[in-house]
Amino acid sequence: MLKIAVPKESDLGELRVALVPDIVARFIKLGFEVLVQSGAGLGAHFTDSEYEAAGATIINSAKALWEAADILLKVAPPGEQQGEEEMNWLKPGATLISFLNPLANPEQVQALAQRKINAFSMEMIPRTSRAQSMDALSSQANIAGYKAALIAAASLPRLFPMMTTAAGTIPPAKVLVVGAGVAGLQAIATARRLGAVVEAFDVRPAVKEEVQSVGAKFIEIPIEEDTATTGGYAKEVGQSTQEKIRQVLTEHVKKSDVVITTAQVQGKRAPLIVTEEMVGEMNPGAVIVDLAAGQGGNCACTEAGKDVYYNGVTIIGPLNLPATLPVDASKVYAKNLLTLVKYVVKDGAIDFNFEDDIVDGTCVTYEGEIRNDRIKQALATLVQA
Ligand code: NAD
Repeated sequence: MLKIAVPKESDLGELRVALVPDIVARFIKLGFEVLVQSGAGLGAHFTDSEYEAAGATIINSAKALWEAADILLKVAPPGEQQGEEEMNWLKPGATLISFLNPLANPEQVQALAQRKINAFSMEMIPRTSRAQSMDALSSQANIAGYKAALIAAASLPRLFPMMTTAAGTIPPAKVLVVGAGVAGLQAIATARRLGAVVEAFDVRPAVKEEVQSVGAKFIEIPIEEDTATTGGYAKEVGQSTQEKIRQVLTEHVKKSDVVITTAQVQGKRAPLIVTEEMVGEMNPGAVIVDLAAGQGGNCACTEAGKDVYYNGVTIIGPLNLPATLPVDASKVYAKNLLTLVKYVVKDGAIDFNFEDDIVDGTCVTYEGEIRNDRIKQALATLVQA
């Protein structure tokens, strides 16, 4: 019987947990043994007794839990505890399934390979309809987009909705969303629900209809170069295109009460979209929420994890917003993991079938080797530097 282990996340502020009790019960029904570290769910308000009632065994020691795992399910990449690397507690041949941020942290992927840990990176789930229910980037980005709109509304010194009262009519707030992927679309939908008037831009023209379907006006900027990969991701655009985007967006940023930026290019620094000059032209009291803060920021004034005040404008650079809604973020992440594990386990063992695009794309280390060319490249660049 394969042992699935769920540790308590060791990153400060990481309140999510890889499995919630309902999903533990589903794993038990499928014939897995599930070990949960004592207190693993507390950040997300799930108690040890709820995990026990779902059929899990509670383990007190972190080290004992990691050592016992056949498959260790985690949210954040492995860290350090008690002066030791958590991943060194895994037995060789064990499987780790987690967010690993592998393109930004290829050295950890290399260390996992050297320790003969077979690792699946949740960032690498293909964005295909077949893999949709395993797509943890989407499940978490959706939550981040929602929270970004709430933070903007709570930080703005004026109302989002239009209000017609005996004391006069207040016009709705103007919100601009840049980057209309999963997070951006949810930010638009949430800002609309709160009553704001929303416009949006994305470098991939294909998202125009999606933007309109959630109630925002799409800002058209004619772009000559090809902006999307075959996988549907945005490409890094050239300097002149980026300059053109900034020029058009300047007027839109200027008249917005709120700007929510979510523009990212996988494995690269986030594109710079809102310059210091553009911030300087915004109305005092305006708010920018930069969801790309962790990737270098879409706004020149952003400081990751901080609120910055510039000329009367508040620039918020939140990190890890899904962890601020740990109950639902954990529920959907656990469901993503259940679907993936069910998909890869055949006859009581993981079937490393690299003919399959999901296994091939997601499994980043196998039997001592790094399996992904982009991670190898990222590692080579680090070594050269
Ligand atoms: P992301 O977080 O990587 O980037 C956010 C958005 O920023 C993207 O829409 C991107 O086009 C945009 N962007 C990049 N550079 C920009 C620039 N210079 N200016 C303006 N916008 C810029 O995106 P994501 O939410 O992870 O989605 C990535 C892709 O995957 C999208 O095509 C999305 O539709 C697709 N997707 C597919 C599935 C599926 O089929 N299962 C699921 C989720 C997402």
